[in-house]
Amino acid sequence: MNFEQLYADFVMHHYKNSMYRGLLPASTCSVEGSNTSCGDSIIIHLEEGESTIQAVRFEGEGCAISQASASVMAEILEGKTYEEAREIVESFEKMLRGESFNESLIGDALFFQGLKDHPMRVKCVTLPWKTAAKALALNEQKKTGA
Ligand code: ZN
Repeated sequence: MNFEQLYADFVMHHYKNSMYRGLLPASTCSVEGSNTSCGDSIIIHLEEGESTIQAVRFEGEGCAISQASASVMAEILEGKTYEEAREIVESFEKMLRGESFNESLIGDALFFQGLKDHPMRVKCVTLPWKTAAKALALNEQKKTGA
């Protein structure tokens, strides 16, 4: 199988069969984001533990890339510490800006690297990550009481 086929299978798997799509009854933080240029919308739910993100779920609609990206992101961020999560999100965004980034942090999300040359698609693939960044910032605010 060539890369294009692997990539297409990867996106469709996460788009259609995500284990991370749905409500999170124990959610302690929900943040919504949208990408008007494609019509994508995402709600990220976090169950915030003391030092780690206990669970991540998403709801939303839009193109396969935005929804698959949310699924991949949820899989990667679940169980991570907040600091790790912020580094991962930052690395992902750097990758899509064509900057040097820490490959070892982002796991399967590396599949999306090729989208960096397609500005419209960058908006789709980064939407869940920008939304998660907002949720992480809210978590930080709660902790510092700022
Ligand atoms: Zn889209």
